[in-house]
Amino acid sequence: MKSRLLSTVSHELRTPVGTIRGYAQLMLSYSKRVSAREQRTHLRTIDQEAGRLEEMIAALLDISRLEAGALQITCTPVRLPPFIEAVAKKMFRRVRSHRLVLELSRNLPIASIDRRRIAQVLENLLDNAIKYSPAETEIRVAATTDGDSVNVCVSDQGIGIQSENLNRIFEPFFRVDDDRQTAHVEGTGLGLAICKGLIEAHRGRIWAEQRSTGGSVFSFTLPIATVEELRNWPTEELSAQR
Ligand code: ADP
Repeated sequence: MKSRLLSTVSHELRTPVGTIRGYAQLMLSYSKRVSAREQRTHLRTIDQEAGRLEEMIAALLDISRLEAGALQITCTPVRLPPFIEAVAKKMFRRVRSHRLVLELSRNLPIASIDRRRIAQVLENLLDNAIKYSPAETEIRVAATTDGDSVNVCVSDQGIGIQSENLNRIFEPFFRVDDDRQTAHVEGTGLGLAICKGLIEAHRGRIWAEQRSTGGSVFSFTLPIATVEELRNWPTEELSAQR
């Protein structure tokens, strides 16, 4: 784990740092010759690369907290349909390349979740669905219940995952090594390991399947709020979640 962490840090963190320094030095050395418009483009690149660094640092912190058993979650009662819809639509406001389809049963029981952490899991699965499927295809988010827990699925029409990798993709730093399809896709291999840790912290399960029609389905379960939890939670707060 430590040596994989070191090699990821050196590979993945160096690239954005190199880009940031390169553009910063260019502007410092040639500020008079760089037009205002070019300066804005360079600053935008610096800002984007700094954002990438921030995300990677957050992922490294999350994975080390999970490995140390030190990640805390704070659960509250949440109505899932408006919550999932808000998270997915917020992401898709920036993404024009894929079509989002929501299938959220309106009579789902109220779940007991850490809002920030489950939003992070959904964003990660949606981000992967976008990264690993061609433009113009459909990404579907569905939520159902069997009475004991809520089941959320994110499915895509992308490159899919071979059966021997369906479990391995949840290991920290594991990335499918397929030059043809994934070489151009950026990533650290930490996202799904973090999702697994966060779902297990909710005492849920997360797994991946290959769709018979092509593409992948990622599913996870979430706990239903207990009568006790609902009794202790202000009713106005829940009615406000529409
Ligand atoms: P990253 O995307 O940063 O590589 P993840 O932990 O999120 O890391 O995913 C691990 C690997 O699982 C990816 O490298 C990719 O090979 C595979 N994978 C994840 N999501 C999908 C998907 N929706 N379709 C196909 N492959 C996927």
